[in-house]
Amino acid sequence: MQCPFCQHTDSRVLESRSAEAGRSVRRRRECLRCDRRFTTYERIEFVPITVIKRDGQRESFDPSKLLRGIVRACEKTGISAVRLEALVDDIEAELQQRAIREVTSNEIGETVLRKLQLLSEVAYVRFASVYRQFQGIRDFVDELNSLRERVSQPNSEEPARSRLEESSNRTEEDRSQLMTQLIS
Ligand SMILES: [Zn+2]
Repeated sequence: MQCPFCQHTDSRVLESRSAEAGRSVRRRRECLRCDRRFTTYERIEFVPITVIKRDGQRESFDPSKLLRGIVRACEKTGISAVRLEALVDDIEAELQQRAIREVTSNEIGETVLRKLQLLSEVAYVRFASVYRQFQGIRDFVDELNSLRERVSQPNSEEPARSRLEESSNRTEEDRSQLMTQLIS
């Protein structure tokens, strides 16, 4: 890092600490030639990501828009806003790590579903209903059944969480309660 006073390129780090709520590292440095001190910040490089929509239109990835969609799908499911924000942060971080700067809205939707499936069955099916444009109650039942099949498969890649294990043991009565919750 070039010294702002004498342009010498070697400095030593006196102190490193996290800044901006952990999103950057602040370093206090001392120039090895003129001994003057200066501060540098290290941040993860932010490169815009383009989303290709189903109709072929392109737009920049907007985490707050994604969050709004997920919050709407997860109303009354008991998942905290903080949890959902963390979910969107995860997705954004995953996208930022990829070499390709373009993603289809379909891939984003499937990623959201993969993550929601571990949090709440209701939220999962609700989000799927919006995102996969369910036409009627039959679609809800089909999605719910396929979720349960995936979850109950012993050699499934996804880790089975206790909540989902419980739910796969539900009786028919419980199932109709769940359906009421989903469509209300
Ligand atoms: Zn210097």
